[in-house]
Amino acid sequence: MKKIKVESFEIDHDKLMPPYVRASKKIKTSKGEDITCYDLRFTYPNLEFISQKGIHSLEHILAYKLREHYDKPIIDISPMGCRTGFYVSVIGKEDLKGILEAVKKALIDVLKEKKVPGTRKKECGNYKEHSLKEAKFWALKFLVHNLLLNAAKEGKKLKREDIYKKFNLNSTYLKKLFSKVLSHIDKVEKEKHNFKLSVLLKNPKELTLKEAKKKYKNYKDTLEEAPKLEK
Ligand SMILES: [Zn+2]
Repeated sequence: MKKIKVESFEIDHDKLMPPYVRASKKIKTSKGEDITCYDLRFTYPNLEFISQKGIHSLEHILAYKLREHYDKPIIDISPMGCRTGFYVSVIGKEDLKGILEAVKKALIDVLKEKKVPGTRKKECGNYKEHSLKEAKFWALKFLVHNLLLNAAKEGKKLKREDIYKKFNLNSTYLKKLFSKVLSHIDKVEKEKHNFKLSVLLKNPKELTLKEAKKKYKNYKDTLEEAPKLEK
């Protein structure tokens, strides 16, 4: 019998440090073309889950937006059944930097959307199960969490105003959403690492920054520990 190994069941889900993009599979077709599958992770497995409506609406919006911002052909963008992220399959060699940049631009666009596309009965298999508000919450959570983790790794302080500017949070609605997202991130980080990332926004003391740096310096190594897919 053929022995099948599924990469996503082989990785240690306790060690994942989202939000991130990771190349999970690299395939060469019989014609020599490269296909790369990315694990686009939004949340900590077994701790936080994208809401059902949120992930469905994100899927619809990203289907357009990610293709708009990425220069290589995207085969599909599929939600994970565990609701912690998406699989993104692309024609082309691994390009982590490029895909992460495209993801960030697409998620900033999600925040500007006025309507979820493809939500008529003829266009979708569960057309009532949508929420633009929830899609925006999870899009902003990816952006802010990623920014805060990187700042922590580098031992950098951040200003609220700079974050508003970076992600175009120019309405009262989006600023309120930011506060909501920030307390969500604090809640999950408290549980996962007993550390609140919002201290990076509050003139942290030297010690706090050092602690943050120490806590997150293994961030990248942790991801690299994930076993590589066998041929
Ligand atoms: Zn749908």
